[in-house]
Amino acid sequence: MHKTDYQELIGAIHLHSDYSDGTLPIPEIAAIASEKELDFLMFSDHNTLAPKHESLEGWYGHVLVLIGCELNDPDERNHYLAFRIDKEIPKNQSPEAYVKQVKEAGGFGIIAHPAEKRNFSDAYPPYPWTAWHVNEFDGIEIWNQLSEWMEGVTRRNIAWRILHPLRSIRFPVWETLDRWDQLNRSRRVVGIGGIDVHAHRVRLWKIISVEIYPYKVQFKSIRTHFLVYPPVTPGLDFHESEFRVFDALTQGRCFISNFALGNARGFQFQAIQGEMMMPMGSRIEIQQPIRLRTWIPRKAHIRLLRNGAVIREDKAVQIDYKTDLPGVYRIEVFRKRRGWIYSNPIVLMKP
Ligand SMILES: [Zn+2]
Ligand SMILES: [Zn+2]
Repeated sequence: MHKTDYQELIGAIHLHSDYSDGTLPIPEIAAIASEKELDFLMFSDHNTLAPKHESLEGWYGHVLVLIGCELNDPDERNHYLAFRIDKEIPKNQSPEAYVKQVKEAGGFGIIAHPAEKRNFSDAYPPYPWTAWHVNEFDGIEIWNQLSEWMEGVTRRNIAWRILHPLRSIRFPVWETLDRWDQLNRSRRVVGIGGIDVHAHRVRLWKIISVEIYPYKVQFKSIRTHFLVYPPVTPGLDFHESEFRVFDALTQGRCFISNFALGNARGFQFQAIQGEMMMPMGSRIEIQQPIRLRTWIPRKAHIRLLRNGAVIREDKAVQIDYKTDLPGVYRIEVFRKRRGWIYSNPIVLMKP
């Protein structure tokens, strides 16, 4: 398939609405997303599929709304985003149980904020993933906007961070990227960016309550871009639209960007073997030397990594790299000394 055959849909994953601890109803959030020119939203309210059962999925103008949920164990840890499931998963189970149930239901499960470490306040403890022995998850949230914001907060900088939420977002957690690279050596684990928007209020110095990250601000930061085929147009049958979007997600045809550093629309990372051109997410047997081609919409610092190590970097709009070595290859792009674009990997394997 030629690169131009893919349609790029840009949206936000991991949102909370007023069905759990978010602050607005889904139609209002969709209207804000529409103003910010997003193409899709994937909601994950805590332990409930009620908005799905109340038929809130569908098209809101040109915004496609998909609904899953966020599961957790009895200690409120091991948060897991479950999409493409119809039946509710019972609460207070172990991660072994809900990861398996999501898989058995034909769903797509994503580990949320795996390395969360924040320690700013007892009222907002971290919720890391600890159940790494469970191996049936499908994806990992490699970048979580709220986690990063909370992680860097101190009593001294909180006011600055509240005034400049977008400037607080710098890089995904290194530990998570490292683990993601290792997991992809043996099987496909899709990386996504989550915004985890609650738009909740934080009490400052016990007196003032301020809203961190209103939805309209959240939508200007971490975005996930899907490469969809065939194209999805507003008004297309919902189930067909859902099928096409989930195909991009399950195949790893997606990348993550921080919109605050520029619109990453058009970013490409492909493998070319003979006449075949394969998109990010591909796992390819090496038959002859393979060309890895990267193109970004504006000049920036591009890094090509193999198994987590940088093997090529350049300030450019394009890099080409020929190789016949197996490995997990992916791209990171930096602007203004911050992370801008993170591709899903292309994995080259021995024939
Ligand atoms: Zn969570
Ligand atoms: Zn969440």
